[in-house]
Amino acid sequence: MERLSAGPHHTAYKIGDLTVTSLRDGYVDMPVRRLHKPGGEPFGDDLPSQVPLFGGALRLSVNAFAVDDGREITLIDTGSSNAWHPTMGFLPQALSEARIAVDRIRTVAFTHTHLDHIHGLVLADGRDGFQRLSRLFVPRAELDMFRSVARLSRFHDRAEPLDPGQQLSANIEAVAARGHEVGHTGFRVTSGGETLLVWGDIVHVPSLQFERPEVAWEFDADQDQARETRLRILALAANNAWCVAGAHLDSPGVGRISRGETGFRFEPL
Ligand SMILES: [Zn+2]
Repeated sequence: MERLSAGPHHTAYKIGDLTVTSLRDGYVDMPVRRLHKPGGEPFGDDLPSQVPLFGGALRLSVNAFAVDDGREITLIDTGSSNAWHPTMGFLPQALSEARIAVDRIRTVAFTHTHLDHIHGLVLADGRDGFQRLSRLFVPRAELDMFRSVARLSRFHDRAEPLDPGQQLSANIEAVAARGHEVGHTGFRVTSGGETLLVWGDIVHVPSLQFERPEVAWEFDADQDQARETRLRILALAANNAWCVAGAHLDSPGVGRISRGETGFRFEPL
């Protein structure tokens, strides 16, 4: 993967015939106790010093990813818009900085339906984020969750169920990654012999969870399943030399995985 351009809110890469752009919606600060040891006990004063803190909090980048095949663009996740903290909602600026024309985004697919991934469908001023949207994919197991979000009511009937193994296009395939949420899904993007796994919320705190994938996140709906999935996906990426792109890896959140002395290592691209 070759880097094509970068700015404060975007980094674009070439992968085969595709352009994949990391779009930084912003960041969110979270208390240290969201990190849980195996068994469920939260971290506190015993947090390893390798984890950087900002005013005593964990800082999670919030990223979305655009896949451009030259004809149209598939957007994976959409950020928070104005539905959560004001440190997020910068996806429109990121698209503009990356010179991505919003009317070329015809497909939106969600890794899962948590609020920092779905609310960008509607702009802060209430208009549609993507006026020429023709397909909206929501993991089947989370359709009801999506349809309970009042702010996105105009999209409830437009959502199409997404299943593992489904091809969104010739280059994008849905991959099961359940645990963080009941329908949590990754997207395998392939072109020219290269593979990028856009993996959603497999890792929330990269400074700790690559080395110690057994550490869970409070908002993992099923912590045991999320832990198993994290280990399986990390091994899959490391064994196959796939690049990965994460919604909460430090922006731009794209890199390679290898095995470390303990756990795994992440090398940003
Ligand atoms: Zn998330």
